[in-house]
Amino acid sequence: MRQIHSGLVHIVKSKDFIADHPLRGDGIVTSHRGVVLAVQVADCVPVLVADAKRGSVGAFHAGWRGTAKRIVERGVGSMRAVFGSKREDLYAAIGPCIHSCCYAVGDEVIDEFRSQFSYADELFSEVYDRDPIKEKYPLLFLTARAPGHSNIGPQTHLDLVEANRRQLLDAGIAGEQIWSAEECTSCRTDLLFSHRGEAGYTGRMMGVVGLLK
Ligand SMILES: [Zn+2]
Repeated sequence: MRQIHSGLVHIVKSKDFIADHPLRGDGIVTSHRGVVLAVQVADCVPVLVADAKRGSVGAFHAGWRGTAKRIVERGVGSMRAVFGSKREDLYAAIGPCIHSCCYAVGDEVIDEFRSQFSYADELFSEVYDRDPIKEKYPLLFLTARAPGHSNIGPQTHLDLVEANRRQLLDAGIAGEQIWSAEECTSCRTDLLFSHRGEAGYTGRMMGVVGLLK
């Protein structure tokens, strides 16, 4: 799939489907056995969903834009509508991604989330810069800007894991059937690829899910 930070979900109907339909989107679902679905990430949230009973799977790529477009909620909705998945049979995994500790966001993101989600404020936290150099020599970092426009002070961080967990819950998946990885990609650049943590020069991780033949 060519990922475009959208809310588009594709249904893979056969093994030949991909070759015939170059896919642009951020969600992919199938009930076809022997097909492996994948999303690629390096900070964005990879979400994998499986229906253990009826046999269907989905893979979703949720950066902040895709999350705001409810890619995961739509994707699970597609699985329920197309394959008749029941909520009690669905299991979800949220893979390693950037966590709120490292995910400072600007007004554009804050405004977009507030316009989309009634619970948006529960996803944000204020984090003070803990740069030891700045703490030791605060005067070096004082700016000549007017009060209220200084860049010293709390930054707003977004919790994309929680945002996508909420979408899984809203799509009907039980909380105890949602697993999420503990690792933050930006904190663990020794182990994981992180777009932010490595200033854009990094690789990609792949989240894959499929049904055995
Ligand atoms: Zn982190």
